[in-house]
Formats: sequence, C-alpha cells, structure tokens
Amino acid sequence: MSSFKNKRIKYFTRPLFNMIKSKGLLPTISETEKTALTAGDVWIEGELFGGKPDFKKIFKYPYPKLTDEEKTFLDTKVEKVCSMAIDWEIFQNRDLPQDVWTYLKEEKFFGMIIPKEFGGLGFSAYAHSCVIEKLVSHSQVLAITVMVPNSLGPAELLLHYGKQEQKDYYLPRLADGREVPCFALTEPDVGSDAASIKSYGELFKDDDGALKIKLQFEKRYITLGSIASVIGLAFSLRDPQNLLGKGEELGITCALVDSKKDGVDQSKRHDPLNVPFVNAPLLGVDVIIGIDDIIGAEEGIGQGWSMLMESLAVGRGISLPSTSSGGSKLATLVASVYSSVRYQFGLSISKFEGISEVVGRLAASTYMLDAAKTFTLGAIDAGAKPAVANAIMKYQSTEMFRKNVLDAMDIQGGAAISRGPKNLLAHAYFGVPIGITVEGANIMTRSLIQFGQGIIRCHPYIYPQVEALQNGDVESFDTLFFSHTKHVLRNAMLCFFLGITRGYLHQNVDSSKTRRYEQKLSWASAKFAFLSDLALVLMGPALKRRESISGRFGDILSHMYMMSATLKRYKHDGYLKEDEAILRVVMENGFCKIDEAFIGIYANISKAPLSWLFKLKILLVKLNPMGTSIKDKDLQYIAHLMSTNKDIRGRICSNVYESTRVKELLNASEAIINVQEAFAKEKKLGKDSLSEDEKVLIKIAREMQDIVVSVDSFSKEEYFR
Ligand SMILES: Cc1cc2nc3c(=O)[nH]c(=O)nc-3n(C[C@H](O)[C@H](O)[C@H](O)COP(=O)(O)OP(=O)(O)OC[C@H]3O[C@@H](n4cnc5c(N)ncnc54)[C@H](O)[C@@H]3O)c2cc1C
Repeated sequence: MSSFKNKRIKYFTRPLFNMIKSKGLLPTISETEKTALTAGDVWIEGELFGGKPDFKKIFKYPYPKLTDEEKTFLDTKVEKVCSMAIDWEIFQNRDLPQDVWTYLKEEKFFGMIIPKEFGGLGFSAYAHSCVIEKLVSHSQVLAITVMVPNSLGPAELLLHYGKQEQKDYYLPRLADGREVPCFALTEPDVGSDAASIKSYGELFKDDDGALKIKLQFEKRYITLGSIASVIGLAFSLRDPQNLLGKGEELGITCALVDSKKDGVDQSKRHDPLNVPFVNAPLLGVDVIIGIDDIIGAEEGIGQGWSMLMESLAVGRGISLPSTSSGGSKLATLVASVYSSVRYQFGLSISKFEGISEVVGRLAASTYMLDAAKTFTLGAIDAGAKPAVANAIMKYQSTEMFRKNVLDAMDIQGGAAISRGPKNLLAHAYFGVPIGITVEGANIMTRSLIQFGQGIIRCHPYIYPQVEALQNGDVESFDTLFFSHTKHVLRNAMLCFFLGITRGYLHQNVDSSKTRRYEQKLSWASAKFAFLSDLALVLMGPALKRRESISGRFGDILSHMYMMSATLKRYKHDGYLKEDEAILRVVMENGFCKIDEAFIGIYANISKAPLSWLFKLKILLVKLNPMGTSIKDKDLQYIAHLMSTNKDIRGRICSNVYESTRVKELLNASEAIINVQEAFAKEKKLGKDSLSEDEKVLIKIAREMQDIVVSVDSFSKEEYFR
C-alpha cells in the first residue's frame, strides 16, 4: 500500500468508517433481505444505473427466435387447443372442458420448461412466452392453467436444485401431466412478506429410526391447489431435538408433498373475481414426509428462500409479461378494428380525434410492451438472470395491460360492458387484478423492489461498500469509497454538461436513426445516477422507508429500460418508416414521465435548508424538459394505420388467436374498408347513383357490421341459469 493511501486511511477513511458505524448510518440488511436483494444478476439495467449507458453494447444483445419445432407447436398444437376451448363456455361451466385437459397433458403443455431428456418439450423462455401469449389472447383460464406448472413451482425448482433421483422420478411425470403441480407459499398472515412463513415442519425420528418431518401448514390463493397431485410447499423447518446438530431453526425449506397424504385438505376453492381457473386454500395437519421429499434432499434444508428468490428473479420476466402482452395485443386489435366498423354521427368512430388518440396510445403501448418483453426474454435465453429488469417487466407490463384493457373497453363502449360470447374484452378485464397482485404485488414492486433492488444489484459501489463496512474491511472500503466519489463527480459533470446541451454532447451513439433518443436517454441516466447518490447522502438508510421517493426513482429506471428496449426493437425491425410515429409517441411519453418523476423527487427529497436548491431544480426541469408533448397528428396517423392497414395491425398485434369472433371483426373491417368509395358516393349522390355491384357490397358490409356491433342478450331462463 502506498504511503499516501496509508495516510488517507489513517486520517480520513478510518474516522469516517468508525463514524458511519457508531452513528448507525450503515443500512441494516437481514440475511433474508440480502438473499432477495442479491438474487439474479445484472444486465442492461446496470448500464442505465451507472450514468453512462453504452447503447452500442446494449443493442448488441440478441433478440430471441423460435426454432422450427417451437414454431410448428405454436401453429398446430396451440391453435388446436384454442379451437377446442370456448371461453364463454369455460366461464359457464366453471372449468376447462375435459378434452382440453387431456390434450394439454398429452401434448406436454405442462412440460414446456422441462428438458427433452426428462420427457418435456425443452422450449426456450421465448417459445414458452409465445405459447402463453397466444393462449391468453383467447382464454385467460387456459393461459393461467398452462402458465403455472411452467413457472415457479416443482418442475422449475427440481431442475435447478433437485437431486438426480428426484428429477428422474418427477420430471417425466410432470411433463406429461401424470402429476399436476402447484406451489404453496402464501399464507393468511404471509403475503408480500413471504419470508415470515408460519407453516412449519418438525424433524423427528420414526419408529424405524428414519428421519421424518411432521408438517403443519395453512396456505391460501394457491393456483391449481385443489387439483394438484404434488404440492410444492414452502415451510419453516425446525429441529427441536437437534437431530441434525445444526440448531433448532433450520430455515425456510421447500418440499414436494403428495396431496393424497393423510392430513392434507385441498377440498375448498377460492373464486378469483369469477375467473374460473383453479385457485384454492390448502391445509395440512400432521402431514408426514421424508427428508428425501425436500427439494435437494438434505442439502436443500434451509435453502428454500434463496431457491425462491433466484427463481423469481427469472420468472418475473416470463409469465406476467407474456400474459400482459397477449392481453394488450388482443385489446389493441379489438379496439382498432371495432373503431373502423362502428359508425356514429354518420362516420366511422375511428375518424374522431378522441378515438384516434386512444387507439394511437394503445398501439404505441403494445409495441413497447412487446419490445421490452422480447428483449428481456432474449437475455433470459442467453443465460442471464436480470433480476431488476424482470421486476421492472413484471410491474410495467401488468400496469400497461391494466390501462390498455380499460382504453380498449372505452372504445367499445356498451359492447365491452355486456357480457356474452361476443364480448372479447370483459374476461380479460376481470383477470387484470390477478397479474397486478401475484409475483410481488405492484405497489410493493414499484416502491420497494425496482429501485431498492436496483441500488443494491446495479450500483457499482453501494453494496460492495456495505459489505466492506459489515466485514470491518477498512482497506477495501477506502478503495471503494474513493472510486465511488469519482463516479459521483463524473456523473455530476455529465449531468451538468448533458443538461446544458440537452444531451447533444453525448456522441457515442449506436445509430444515426436513434441518435437523439440515445442522447436524451444518456442525459436521463446521468441525472438519475447522480441524483440517486445524492438521495443516499441526504437520506442515508432512511431512503429505504421513503417509498414514494424510491418509487419515483423506480419509475425513471423502468421508463429508461422500456424505452431502450423499444429502440432495440425499432433497430431490429430495420427502422421501419411506418413505425416512426409509434417510436416518437413512446419516447416522448417516456421522457415526459421521467421529467415528472424528477420533479416529484426534487419536490420531496429535502426540507430546509436545501429546499431552495431543489425548487430551483424544479424550475430548471420545467425550463429545460427532456420530453415534449406527444403530437396529436402522430396518434392520428398510428390510429389510421391500425384501422386501415391490416399488415401493420397484424405486426403490432401478432400472435393473437383468431377465434370466430375475432375473424368476424377482421372480416367486417375489411368489408367496410372496401366500400368506402361506395359509401362516399351514396352520401354525395344518393343511393340511386350506386351500381348493382356496389349495392351488394354495401349490403354485405352492413350485415357484417351488424354482426360486430351486436351484443348478447339472454332469455330470463338463460340469465338466471
Ligand atoms: C389469483 C391469485 C393466484 C395466486 N397464486 C398463488 C400461488 O399459486 N402460490 C402462492 O404461493 N401464492 C399465490 N398467490 C398469492 C400472491 O402471490 C399474493 O397475493 C401476493 O404475494 C400478495 O399478498 P397479499 O395478497 O396477502 O397482499 P398483502 O401482502 O397483504 O399486500 C397488500 C398491499 O400492500 C402492499 N405492500 C405490502 N408490503 C409493502 C411494502 N413493503 N411497501 C409497499 N407496499 C406494500 C402490496 O403491494 C399490496 O398492494 C396468488 C394470489 C392470487 C390473487
């Protein structure tokens, strides 16, 4: 060590080190929190967090592709099962038809993530996502039923942590549906705070001397719970007699419990907003299992929490982004087609500016959601576990879907409110809050996880410094502290110079076509990085409790992420001219939201004596905003394309299953577009001016229009059935 560094440590770093410890400025991070926060790894979020994103590097990450086999599965098996499942009947009968259950099992829909060597389909995350996306565009019940065995649960946990014998036994049985799995974590007192599990198991020696576990559990909201043959159970394992010599509390453990065992009660069902997928409470009293039922057997004891956090770090990027994307594509398709078919005040409602504003917004949102979902899946398929990006995807995709469904329903008016086989949106609407609640409820994900995990996982210096402090390692702390200081100073400079030049100073761009957006994102990133360090200095560990501030930082990070993914798609698709307006809407909207979040942070970050400085910063954001308002003409142009150009609409709303009702809408739209000239002639010159052919075409178009505009009605007997 140089003498300069020695002196620096002696006269500066050590006193600082001692002061941080004695004043309690060191954030307290429990072991369970540490496991949750450090799960997974860092991907492009790290670039955005660091203040100097390298878009050349970001855009080099691959976009995923389907193999021929995966594509064939999507085009044949998925199409077939959709044709077998009629969503309205599923709701009436409160179950999937028996032949659908059989088909799903026979064709290994429940084994998409299980490798072929174990009898599964061995699909990529992208293929798995495409299947879920198409299923959900037809039936939420069908999609959720397929989604759950392929997400966090017995198969996923066995694949990563199971013993070979456990894999050999269970995986083939899970792949072909001989076993139906569920995963039981949530309890009446344990929802978001999943680490506080109360269900427990006690180790004891059986009469024959074998070590066994006696379980007591009370779980709720468990999807597939009442029909599962194998329950993946998370519980706290105790060893009151210290049989293993490791103390009394052994920690959260995951095991597979045969649901036919004595003491298991799976007789009840919940009713999640009338959406009839299987969801149930599960009770267990004195249920006996062996050590070999623990996932990973004895090695898996006490490892449950890290298993769950690692798996969630990946899973959040797959299931819910896929259902949200499929739902948004359906909503956008229905809204844009319906608006071209529905006439009011003598005009197609798509011609009204108010409607085109909403259709334009829907298309832009769906484009962005699909872009971010696909980009993230590409990272997962390349072996990354981007924990923060996946948390962002979970939150953003479900929130976007919620808004998109409501927007589409607004456009359909009464036709979206009246339930029946003709209504394509009502059941999607019922399902929206499910995605919001599961896999980390959204308020918590926004205000605690996105930025909280981000700062631990993605910041280059924070967590290493905390570790150095915890380990009493002054030397490492010294190096990290001064590297961190340099990092803050660099970001302060970047923030200043990019601010006064409105980002133009940033020259290291990937493409001239996206130059301006890359520059502004770099400006946003520098400002975000500098301000997050400043917030830490001003608030210290209290920042963890200031969730509204942390939530706004999370918003900025997640907008930067979604916008970067949108640029990647635009580039991947070959900078299509017709997508320019969509790109402008996505980016301007994103920058406006980033401005809003910065203002929110400045307004709340500090009281006197620094409040004047932040008031000044608010004024500066208003005088020098990153975002400009979305242009009405962009929204109108997008809406025009969406209601008249079936190729572009098909691209934005790809992978939607074309049910009979969807086909009715598409055909009617086509027919109406084809008679536009005849309509104009009739309006100007009267009916007699039309040729016989034109009259026939108009008649057919009007009949098709009537079919689309009609809603279901029921006799008293049918209604009260
Ligand atoms: C349809 C459905 C299916 C499900 N399937 C399964 C399953 O198969 N297996 C399983 O184990 N579980 C399942 N769950 C449970 C789901 O994961 C939980 O509902 C979820 O974890 C939230 O728990 P909670 O409902 O008890 O809400 P709570 O934890 O009570 O949360 C209530 C509100 O408080 C907010 N909140 C909580 N903590 C914080 C915080 N620190 N900061 C800010 N806000 C906070 C939440 O965001 C939420 O808005 C399912 C739930 C539903 C509804």
